[in-house]
Order: sequence, then C-alpha cells, then structure tokens
Amino acid sequence: MELTMKAIEGSRQDLYIAGERVRPKSGRYIPSYDPTCAEPWYEVADANADDVDAAVKAAKRAFNDPAWRRITQSDRGKLVRRLADLIAENADELAAIEMRDNGKLLKETRAQLRAAPDSYLYFAGMADKLHGETIPVNKLDMLNFTLREPIGVVGMISPWNSPLMLLTGTLAPCLAIGNTVVVKPSEHTSASTLALAELVAKAGFPAGVFNVVTGNGSTAGEALTLHPDVAKITFTGSTTTGKRIASNAAGRLVSTQMELGGKSPHVVFGDVDIDRAVNGVVAGVFAAAGQTCIAGSRCFVEQRIYDEFVARLVERTSRIRIGHPAKDETELGPLALAAQLEKVQQYVGYGVADGARLAIGGRRPQQEALAGGWYYEPTVLADARNDMRFMRDEIFGPVVGVTPFHDESELMALANDTNYGLAAGIWTQNIDRAMRFARNVDAGTVWINTYRSAAYMSPAGGFKESGYGKRGGFEVMREFSRLKNVVLDY
Ligand code: NAD
Repeated sequence: MELTMKAIEGSRQDLYIAGERVRPKSGRYIPSYDPTCAEPWYEVADANADDVDAAVKAAKRAFNDPAWRRITQSDRGKLVRRLADLIAENADELAAIEMRDNGKLLKETRAQLRAAPDSYLYFAGMADKLHGETIPVNKLDMLNFTLREPIGVVGMISPWNSPLMLLTGTLAPCLAIGNTVVVKPSEHTSASTLALAELVAKAGFPAGVFNVVTGNGSTAGEALTLHPDVAKITFTGSTTTGKRIASNAAGRLVSTQMELGGKSPHVVFGDVDIDRAVNGVVAGVFAAAGQTCIAGSRCFVEQRIYDEFVARLVERTSRIRIGHPAKDETELGPLALAAQLEKVQQYVGYGVADGARLAIGGRRPQQEALAGGWYYEPTVLADARNDMRFMRDEIFGPVVGVTPFHDESELMALANDTNYGLAAGIWTQNIDRAMRFARNVDAGTVWINTYRSAAYMSPAGGFKESGYGKRGGFEVMREFSRLKNVVLDY
C-alpha cells in the first residue's frame, strides 16, 4: 500500500473516482486533525455536488459495464477474497492511519482491522449463494420464479469512530452481490477509506466499482443522498443526520439502511460477582473513550448492591490509564474531535446541575503531557435519573450514569424509557430473569453476562431512533439486493 501514514502526513488528499485520484471541482480542501495534539496532519478534498455527480456517474457506468455486470458470481467472490488478503497484509498500517485520525487505541483498531478480512471472506463466500426460488402457482406449463439481483449504485455514508470496521459490514456484501459503491467517509477520518480504495484497485475490481467522495456532510453527503442515480443509501452516524438523510431519500422513494445512535441500558442484579460486572460495565462504556454507538451509558443497579457497586466502579475507573493511543499500556485515549470534548463537558455539567453526583472524573486529565490533546477523564455520575438530560441524549463520550432500581418491573420501565433501541446488557445468575429482560427490552442486540461482543455472522441493527435494517449474517445480502419475479408460459 502506497498511501501509508507517512505518505499522508502533510499531504493533500484528492477524491477517488473511477480508479483515479481526482482534484475536487470545488477546489477546496479541509484539514484533518490529530486528536492527541489538536494539530492538522493532512488535508482532504471537500467535494461539491459536481464532484459527487462525477463519482455517482462513474459508479453507474461501472454497474452497467460488462466487465463487472457479466462477471460470474464465483469470480466476484474471488475478487472479494483477494481484497480480504490485501486488507490482512495492510491491517496494521490501516490501523495506524485510523488512530492518527480519530485517536482510538492502536491496539483496539489493529485487532478490529486484523479481524476484518474474515468478514470479507464470509461475504465472499456468499457471492454464489444468493439465489431466487421457483414458486408453484397452480398452473400447468408455467414457470414462476424469482431472481436475486444487485440494486445498482449504493451510497455509503460513514462516521469517524471506526471508519473501516463499520464500512466492512456493508461494503463486503455489496461487492459480493455486484453493486457499485460511492463512499462518503466522515470529513474527520477520510484517510483510511482512501487507502482502502488503493487495495480495492489492486485486488482487480474494475475502475468505478468503488469510489470515494470526501468532504463535509452538509455538501458532499447531502448531494449523495439527493442524487437521482443512487439506488440505495446506507448510513451510519447520528440520529439527527439519519432523519435528514431518510427524508431526502424518501423524496425519491429510495430505500435506506440506518445505523444510528444509542443510549443503551446496562443492568446489574445483586446476584452477580460484582467485580466481574464492574469490569463489564467499564469496558461497555469507556471503550474507545465512550465513542461507540453501543456504549452502555445508562447503568441500572439493584438497590441492595448499589452503594457497593458504585464504590467498586469508582475504584476500577480510577485505575484506567489515560494516554497516547499508540502506547500499549494506554486504556483510554483522547476524544476524536474538539467538538466532542466540548459536548462531553457540557453534558457532565448538565448532569451535575440536574442533581447527579459526580463520583469520579468530570474533568480533563491533569498530566502535562496530555494537555494539548482532546482528552477527558472517564466519568461516573451516580444517583442519576432518566429524566436528566445527560441520561436522555447520546453523549458519545466516557460518561456513565448510574441509577438504582428495586425490582424487575421498575427496571424494565427504566430500561425502555429512551428514544433509542440499539443495545442492552444484563448481569445476573438468574437465567429466567435474563431471558425475560432479553424478550422485553427494546434493543436490537442484547448481551447477557457479557457486553460489546459482536460478530459479522449475526444480524446487528437498532430499533426506535437507533435506526432500521440489519447488517451481518445472510440478512444483509437480502438488504442490498433486489428480488424480481419472472413468469414463463411454455
Ligand atoms: P454524523 O451524523 O455527524 O456524521 C456521520 C456522517 O454523515 C459523516 O460522514 C458526515 O459527514 C455525514 N453527514 C453529516 N450531515 C449530512 C447530511 N446532511 N447529509 C448526508 N451526510 C451527512 O455522525 P458522527 O458524529 O460522524 O458519528 C457519531 C454518531 O454515529 C453517533 O451518534 C453514533 O452513535 C453513530 N454510530 C452508529 C453506529 C451504529 O452502528 N448504529 C456505529 C457507529 C456510530
């Protein structure tokens, strides 16, 4: 891979359209910042509607080009397999680029990207397994059957927290199905997606199958969602943006898949090993400095262990090592954006003003070495209530609110009292209770005595304002293909 972290440093990154690096017609570039020092480290093209139009047209041409359209399913699968190999070879470099862009721990990003090729291989294997069916229609000499087809140009809009990992869940199936793609990565973290484009070309995909338009959401992103030749949009990001994109797409009756925000309940009953549950809650909310959509940011604890649990949670939190994300010993890196740091500070302020008890954190770390970056201490706000603003809105930072509950019915009401429905977790030794919770909680994923464990084989996706549509498993192959009915009289 030529687009390494060294090559990107100090450079101007252009768009990637039809297999070429292309200067933006807008003529504009925007800086991308290193969150550990708040300094720009490269610039990225800020595409306008004309640039987006060029990318979508390239994707449409590629979709209709026999070089892609007439390729057999198993050959398409082989291309995806080759891409998997190239990602495996370059996983550490891609991780280094992402860490520089969003400040996420290098060891965690590496683990994610070293695992990504397995996901590509899984979907490569599905390229020749997506098929239609023959339907008995109660008429002789008539053949009635369905065909599964690619949809066309898919617009993919991704966030900054885990750019390539989140793209994998839709990109790998889309390529396996035979769609073509225009990706609009977050303006804060475009570099790894541009590096991936190089690998897609090297794997042998025809030019135009994969295109990248970088730039601001309100211009480049908006233009992609309004383009008449985009057949489907998949969006991962905030609920506010998701609503806007869904409404743009509705104007053209284009279907969307929405992976949005969360405010997930994480429940602890009194019958558990408290330290194990504390570790689960800590990892569930403070991983990636709280910048994960599935963060268990509302923690409900059974009254009889509440004081003990909060004390141990505070003690465990005090031992979290904050530092540079490249260091092996670091457990919590910086926030990705200055705006994110401001938001976290603001919401912790709301929590305290609303009467929550600041049990630990609530400030930027005091170490001199961290002063220049967007770091924030992991924060526990105890005695929280669901009606407090910090418990209702997604913060996307290292902040957990802890609330006591007395019994299961109170707990269910508290857990489901949110606009979101992405994930939920429960710690208990009582299997009946765990299953009742799993059945009754409004969440797309439920974890029992674990949290955050995800797999590309299982369907992931939220309810309520956390979005709709699934990624993972075979379900996603249906999501990104279309079903045609054919009737033949013979
Ligand atoms: P965001 O909504 O601000 O931006 C996401 C993407 O949308 C970016 O590429 C942005 O440029 C683009 N965008 C912004 N305005 C747009 C518009 N009007 N039209 C088209 N595109 C537009 O989100 P973010 O801050 O990058 O990411 C954080 C959010 O993502 C959090 O809410 C988090 O929960 C969510 N998220 C969800 C999942 C999931 O799987 N459910 C995964 C990761 C992140």
